[in-house]
Amino acid sequence: MELTVLGASGSYNGRHGPCSGYLVRTAETNLWVDCGNGTLNVLHEYIDPAEVDAIVITHEHPDHCADIYGMHVLWHYGLERTGLPVLAPEGAEHRLGALVRNWGGAFDWRAIDPSRPVEIKDARLVFSRTDHPIPTYAVDITGDGRRLVYTADTGPGWNVGAFAPGADLVLSEASHLHAERRTTIHLSAREAGEAARAAGAGSLVLTHVWPTVDLAAIGEEGSAAFGADVVLAAPHVVATL
Ligand SMILES: [Zn+2]
Repeated sequence: MELTVLGASGSYNGRHGPCSGYLVRTAETNLWVDCGNGTLNVLHEYIDPAEVDAIVITHEHPDHCADIYGMHVLWHYGLERTGLPVLAPEGAEHRLGALVRNWGGAFDWRAIDPSRPVEIKDARLVFSRTDHPIPTYAVDITGDGRRLVYTADTGPGWNVGAFAPGADLVLSEASHLHAERRTTIHLSAREAGEAARAAGAGSLVLTHVWPTVDLAAIGEEGSAAFGADVVLAAPHVVATL
């Protein structure tokens, strides 16, 4: 399994590049997990978008889903294809559809249900509702005998312990430094590190850092809490599990 970071900027696209988006690849499957603004551009550098097998939208904050519109134009008008699975919160098709006259069957919208795992070719996805103001789902992806857990956005009221322990890689949001936090709808680097350590994560990648927060300080705080060096997500960072 391979994780490629397409974008990692927290909440808006700041100087470090696009917002949240990740390409998760197994032997047979290409998953585009969160299609935040700017991530479609970077996706092109790694695969032909026609080879995406499914899109996951963890929640409908624009920094996690805005490039669904560009993908719609590409898939529907460019490729003239239909039925690309989009796993998203229930009703997303209609809410996001307010900006689209007609999805034209381009996507096969599937409502995320935490009680029902989803299989996309050789990948298996399990979801968990996080602590975030709108319906938001973390995802646990298994493939190639490896496991990746992505927290999506969450406050400290949820953590990766909601999934089975021992994931090979946890990709966790870490929006703020603990002492500087301005909100409880996101994690600090310390909280991200502590939760991943408690869940026995093999490695930890921190993402969704607020654009004006010092990245090196996030890395130091996260590493101290995790008990090992963390990786800071950035466009073009690739991690092999
Ligand atoms: Zn959010």
